[in-house]
Amino acid sequence: MANYLISGGTGYVPEDGLTAQQLLAIADGLTYNDFLLLLGFIDFTAEEVDLTSALTRKITLKTPLISSPMDTVTEADMAIAMALMGGIGFIHHNCTPEFQANAVRKVKKFEQGFIADPVVLSPSHTVGDVLEAKMRHGFSGIPITETGTMGSKLVGIMTSRDIDFLAEKDHATFLSEVMTSRTDLVVAPAGVTLKEANEILQRSKKGKLPIVNDSDELVAIIARTDLKKNRDYPLASKDAHKQLLCGAAVGTREDDKYRLDLLTQAGADVIVLDSSQGNSVYQIAMVHYIKQKYPQLQVIGGNVVTAAQAKNLIDAGVDGLRVGMGCGSICITQEVMACGRPQGTAVYKVAEYASRFGVPVIADGGIQTVGHVVKALALGASTVMMGSLLAATTEAPGEYFSDGVRLKKYRGMGSLDATEKSSSSQKRYFSEGDKVKVAQGVSGSIQDKGSIQKFVPYLIAGIQHGCQDIGARSLSVLRSVMYSGELV
Ligand code: IMP
Repeated sequence: MANYLISGGTGYVPEDGLTAQQLLAIADGLTYNDFLLLLGFIDFTAEEVDLTSALTRKITLKTPLISSPMDTVTEADMAIAMALMGGIGFIHHNCTPEFQANAVRKVKKFEQGFIADPVVLSPSHTVGDVLEAKMRHGFSGIPITETGTMGSKLVGIMTSRDIDFLAEKDHATFLSEVMTSRTDLVVAPAGVTLKEANEILQRSKKGKLPIVNDSDELVAIIARTDLKKNRDYPLASKDAHKQLLCGAAVGTREDDKYRLDLLTQAGADVIVLDSSQGNSVYQIAMVHYIKQKYPQLQVIGGNVVTAAQAKNLIDAGVDGLRVGMGCGSICITQEVMACGRPQGTAVYKVAEYASRFGVPVIADGGIQTVGHVVKALALGASTVMMGSLLAATTEAPGEYFSDGVRLKKYRGMGSLDATEKSSSSQKRYFSEGDKVKVAQGVSGSIQDKGSIQKFVPYLIAGIQHGCQDIGARSLSVLRSVMYSGELV
């Protein structure tokens, strides 16, 4: 229930509501549900609202939305989709350094239209394997290579026409017997432009166009279904070489330095130091180490919820701060550790302090609705990080399973479930010598939400409408009227 009103926009009458400063001075601790924003004057359309905002000192995004480094939220597919729509994804580190670096590489190498990591099978797989892949991934044209992996010699393709008339008894049939073989395939050479490849695909009237190198090894495919979907992404977050931006998470232990090396070699643009309590000698030392070894790399510190915590990390040289403790949907930190802070207050206090040093703040966790995004931004956050809101989308890692409805797993990185997978999240939430593990998160499942490609545009439009009602043409106007007291 809303207890407080923050009135906004130019031409406000002071007694209408409280400024953010007044509100936060009297409130003990505000969550996003404890206040509402008052309305301003509208003399522009919602579409005109400019959502450009800083992620770090040197990186600016056109969409202030970030996917969280969690193993049920952000791997390559999510990071690609978020960057295409103007945000950014941070690849999680609950995996080997090689796996994480490979995911970063996929994002940096992404070329729209070319599928670089399709499902691939070998001639010794069976029709049953194709049907299973079709059920899990929902498509039918599968390239067949000698070893069943990308980069191996192309030997054929399985299309829906190859399996349509096969019966139940044929499930054990080897693909070598039923696939359309290499001699009947139209392919394109590596290096072909998307435009040229699309033309070849259209002329061939096939569903898929494999792209092969000089040794006839498969390097990518193009799908006819994607041709229709291929669209422009005017907001896309890109670096100077026109490659998509990608972030990655690391811890602060000695072996994270090796992980960091692989991530920078793969082209990561920004690193987040993943800790639930970032105000530590370990994190400060890691910031110094990164800044000395990779001066160009942007580093985000956290998590913090107080100005005192923020001060130490800003002094150490971070380029951005991640704010939130105990507010995540799968989080039980406040219950278990007795520590944390209501997220509205945490965002305001840290952002207000950090803004004096030009350090942007990410509001991380507890975002359940588009209104919460607007409130986080109105309290001074430059961007917003989400877990549950983006989980169970097509681009989130993991496969759907059915329990009456289509579900995907979503779990806290401090849940026992996640910590069993690898040692990385143990480092965020547990000390190495811990004999007894105290979980700080839980795991569960979320119903299928469809694609990020539809959901993020909805979030963007929602934020624009919120800003319009407040009377703010841009996020920088929103922040400046909040600090000046006009947005109250
Ligand atoms: P959500 O968007 O409310 O689901 O929150 C996501 C955020 O929760 C992440 O970005 C992390 O900061 C935080 N988080 C992730 N796993 C855990 C956990 O196990 N315990 C506490 N917080 C977590």
